[in-house]
Amino acid sequence: MGQWMSSVRSHRRNLARISYPGTAILGPEYQPSHELIEIDVTYRCNLKCIGCNRSCRQASDETRLSPAQLGKFIDESITAGRIWKRIRVLGGEPTTHPDILQMLGSLVEYKGRYNPEVQLEIVSNGFGEEAGAIISNIPKEVIVTNTHKTSVTANRFEDFNLAPQDDARHAITDFRNGCWITEECGLGLTPFGYYHCAVAGGIDRVVGYDLGLKHLPSTERDYGAMTHQMRRLCRWCGHFQSGEKVHTRERRLISELSYSSSWAEAYEQYKAQKPELDMY
Ligand code: SF4
Ligand code: SF4
Repeated sequence: MGQWMSSVRSHRRNLARISYPGTAILGPEYQPSHELIEIDVTYRCNLKCIGCNRSCRQASDETRLSPAQLGKFIDESITAGRIWKRIRVLGGEPTTHPDILQMLGSLVEYKGRYNPEVQLEIVSNGFGEEAGAIISNIPKEVIVTNTHKTSVTANRFEDFNLAPQDDARHAITDFRNGCWITEECGLGLTPFGYYHCAVAGGIDRVVGYDLGLKHLPSTERDYGAMTHQMRRLCRWCGHFQSGEKVHTRERRLISELSYSSSWAEAYEQYKAQKPELDMY
């Protein structure tokens, strides 16, 4: 425990740097990458880990991205001349999506015709025979990252549900600063639209602000809307606490859920009435 506490402390952010005055002088610490994107094709998961940063356990949801929505993403990318460097498909557990192989086929076709250098990737927990069967049929053009999860508890995650907005140390924090994920994983596309990162989309589906952009962000106005997303959604996100990438071995082994107060309230509200967001 002592070792964990010291590793958490060593990854705490410089609060002066991310304060309103610090950010006004130096600008946000992290900027969304518009060359990388993560597509959450489903919020369904066959595992439901404790501490999932898409809330698959805490607020289960069967909503998924349709093949037509993926087609819209591809069309928008072609029309805008967007050259993605990486498109990563995940969720939820993407192999539970009934159309996942068809959707990966569409991405492979897009790569072949319009963007040969793009890295296509799918991230699966690799759990169970059904996931294994899908994985064995994934086209060779798609890199499979199998996280080989075996249990809902044996995972080293950051404490996603400890919202910085519930932490008095963040009283003057400017949440536009985001964290490494928006820069290194890029934008997020969910069934509800585009976000500055996919984690933020998973937060919005629970808290119900409906901030997803319903078109590919490409104008100054869109970038401003993404800054607004960061202001509203990063304050909920436990990844904000460290800001930087924390190596798996330095993260806590999550065996029981710990929520800060605003998450406890948000999940209660979700259970009472799931928010309705407009679809992408
Ligand atoms: S396998 Fe991944 S998506 Fe599923 S519950 Fe665990 S962390 Fe969330
Ligand atoms: S703090 Fe959370 S919501 Fe904000 S950029 Fe990082 S992962 Fe995304």
